[in-house]
Amino acid sequence: MNKKEILDKFSADPERYYNVNLFEDQGFERKSCKKCNKYFWTLDSERSNCPECSDDMYSFIGDPPTSKRFDYTQSWKEVESFFVKNNHTSINRYPVVCRWRDDLYFTIASIVDFQRVMGSKVTFEFPANPLVVPQTCLRFKDLENVGVTGRHFSSFCMIGQHSIPNDSGYWKDECVNLDFNLLTQQFGIDKKEITFVEDVWEGGGSFGSSLEYFVRGLELGNAVFTEFQGDLSNYKTLDQKIIDMGAGLERFAWITMGTPTAYDCCFGPITEKLIQDAGIDADSSVLTPYFTEIAKNLELCDDLSQVRKNAIKSTGLSDEQINRVITPLEGIYLIIDHIRTLIFAISDGALPSNVGGGYNLRIMLRRIISTMDRLKLKFDLNEIIDIQIDYLKNTYPELENTREDVKEIISIEASRYDSSKQRMQKIVSKLDKEPNVSDLIRLYESDGVTPEYLKEMKVISEIPSTFYAKLSDLHQSKKQKEQLSLPLEGIPDTELLFYGDDPREFDAKILKSFENFVVLDKTAFYARGGGQEPDHGKIGDCEIVDITKHGNIVVHEIKGNIPKENDTVSCKVDSKRRDGITKNHTSTHIINTSARSVLGSWVWQHSAFKEEDHARLDITHHSALTDEDVVKIEQTANGIIEKSIPVKIENFDRGTAEQKYGFRIYQGGVVPVKSVRIVSIGDLDIEACGGTHVVNTSDIEQIKITRTKRIQDGVVRIEFVSGDGAKEFVKKKQQDSESKEKEDNLREQEKEKRLERRQLAKERIPVISKSLLECKQGTVTIDNITMELAESGKANFCYSTSDDYDDVFHIGLGEKLCKEDPKLVYCGLFEQGEKVRVIVYAGEEISKEKSAGEIVKNISEVLGGAGGGSPKFAQGGGTDKSKKEDAIKNVKSMIIQ
Ligand SMILES: [Zn+2]
Ligand SMILES: [Zn+2]
Repeated sequence: MNKKEILDKFSADPERYYNVNLFEDQGFERKSCKKCNKYFWTLDSERSNCPECSDDMYSFIGDPPTSKRFDYTQSWKEVESFFVKNNHTSINRYPVVCRWRDDLYFTIASIVDFQRVMGSKVTFEFPANPLVVPQTCLRFKDLENVGVTGRHFSSFCMIGQHSIPNDSGYWKDECVNLDFNLLTQQFGIDKKEITFVEDVWEGGGSFGSSLEYFVRGLELGNAVFTEFQGDLSNYKTLDQKIIDMGAGLERFAWITMGTPTAYDCCFGPITEKLIQDAGIDADSSVLTPYFTEIAKNLELCDDLSQVRKNAIKSTGLSDEQINRVITPLEGIYLIIDHIRTLIFAISDGALPSNVGGGYNLRIMLRRIISTMDRLKLKFDLNEIIDIQIDYLKNTYPELENTREDVKEIISIEASRYDSSKQRMQKIVSKLDKEPNVSDLIRLYESDGVTPEYLKEMKVISEIPSTFYAKLSDLHQSKKQKEQLSLPLEGIPDTELLFYGDDPREFDAKILKSFENFVVLDKTAFYARGGGQEPDHGKIGDCEIVDITKHGNIVVHEIKGNIPKENDTVSCKVDSKRRDGITKNHTSTHIINTSARSVLGSWVWQHSAFKEEDHARLDITHHSALTDEDVVKIEQTANGIIEKSIPVKIENFDRGTAEQKYGFRIYQGGVVPVKSVRIVSIGDLDIEACGGTHVVNTSDIEQIKITRTKRIQDGVVRIEFVSGDGAKEFVKKKQQDSESKEKEDNLREQEKEKRLERRQLAKERIPVISKSLLECKQGTVTIDNITMELAESGKANFCYSTSDDYDDVFHIGLGEKLCKEDPKLVYCGLFEQGEKVRVIVYAGEEISKEKSAGEIVKNISEVLGGAGGGSPKFAQGGGTDKSKKEDAIKNVKSMIIQ
């Protein structure tokens, strides 16, 4: 649907769509802009243009239209007290990490808080009606503008005023009335300054009229009246009409303060401090005209660098002023803005990484660091975080709890960037041409080089607009496994017995049977889901192969003679398997909460898998786990088991559960049903979960972590066993270590014996040598030493490869034998640790032809090593113990043929 068409249609009938009581009562005039033809409502008879085409644009800078001055914190207090006074409930902000929506990573508007997606339908769940909320919203679309334009933020507070028109809520008249009174009564803005502009909103199949309200060209808020569904030719009124008024708190503060930029009044004392630390002369007589020009130009032109050039030209700033004031100020604003966003995101459990929304956070931190480098600003990030949280906690007290966690994550990420920068520099220096989009994706995916870095290094001039879309396409495909389409029309929902008495034997009626599948009227077999593997067991005589859930119908895949429809069958759950899975499942809750308490608040379940005899839990964490981490997590988990804590299961309306327990309940992801099953282990762990659980933590008996592994950036896998599995694991480990101990003992004894034999051998050198020399022909072996005489009578060869001898022995015996027999070559091989050593002697006569040094070289080569020496004595060795005999054979052929 075309927005313009809707607007034309609605503006053609202003009485029906736009005229509210306030306009009548106060005498607002409806006018059409002389420049752009847009319709607007005003009390100022002089005004002929819409606010975005008027000359008074941004004239509040340096000259605010209010008698009162409110900074960011005070502005919220004013807004809140006004709406509370007018019967609204003020609710706390929702997390910026949007855990309740599959399609959004971050919360981008206050209305998102209350949207729940069920199938293809969006429903609204309001914890109160009417209500007001200071919702922190993250938007990364305009990062380039942040710090430069004076009004763009990567995160901002959307004042959400929401109402459903029923007994307690209201519709258009009351809404516009309230917004008008907020501006005039609470903020003291003259009513002639306020202009309402006609507009429309459409999205997700619904649409409605809206009134944007402006003061001096600054859009403060937009009241959207979501009223219809369908398309323009055929639409009807929604069952649930909704008022979605969103206003920027930062702009409310700015209009009352009239500072050169919104940044000057929205970050608290940190801005002033950093400006002073950097030694910038922030003279408002220079800044006010400059930023006013920026704001005006931005309405006329999209190209930011052109906007900047125009503003510099029309205010006549010198290069000196730009370099010493404007550029460093832009950097400071950017740094403060980005850190504020990181504070919210990390506090709510997001981690910088190379995937999903984590990528935006990583990019922001890198922008902070490279801005500091570029401008040679030396700020202490921890100090900035502290001062910001001190200020923000006036509105968001919960940030105090995660102060240290935010510092820890940011410092880890910053030091990681330092080391990756050196690596990236190396890769970039090897690039020989400007990379195209596929090069950029490869550089990012395999080398971790971000396009932002390449832009910073001036390798590319712009990040191609298709880069992020292509990147996310690459990662999208793995998302969902397609489900079989089965003939299930008209079959009623299956009654789930495992949520009730959970009988392990029961009778059920076959409602449908086809191929290898049966559907029962009720079942106690748990279907694959939530990372929990399906039950096994028997339906009649058939073994169960798999069980899946299709909507609310459980389908059993079986093998054997498939029972007939309408038969009643007796069913039996494999209890041993179910108990194993149940213990492992409950253990994932326990390990998850243990990991969070040991590691930090950023730990969330990323995914989980629970089988009968093993399980794994993937958690979000910045680094691989250390041995110490693992020991602590295991101890904490077993502590929870020892405390015998009852596991409580309750059903709640989803909205009630969220309000009561917060969004931590969504560890396993979005719950697409209105009633949620809350599983709580004392107050240690409270999750929405549909799996099977033990009654008391003591039933698990024991948890043992078997292995951990970093499986992707920001995600660590913990593999574990519990119950009998844990006991078996411990027993096996003990046996392994016992048998290892036995082996070690044997080896030690062996070594001692060998040493003893080697000791004794030395004393026997004279006896052995005498016996060997008595050999006059052929071969003789004495104590594993062999003497072979050549038939020619020209050479004799004596050798041993026995480990009963050491170097002292071989040196002693070899020297003695060769002195007695000038034609003898003596060769001793023996193992020493990981090596084989070799000692060779050659007698006076034979050494002239067969040098000991050459022989050692030859043997050492065969053994995979090296050696050498003189003609009469040499030594060497190698590492290949299997080649000892080969080496001897080789040498023997050299000497006696
Ligand atoms: Zn206009
Ligand atoms: Zn569970």
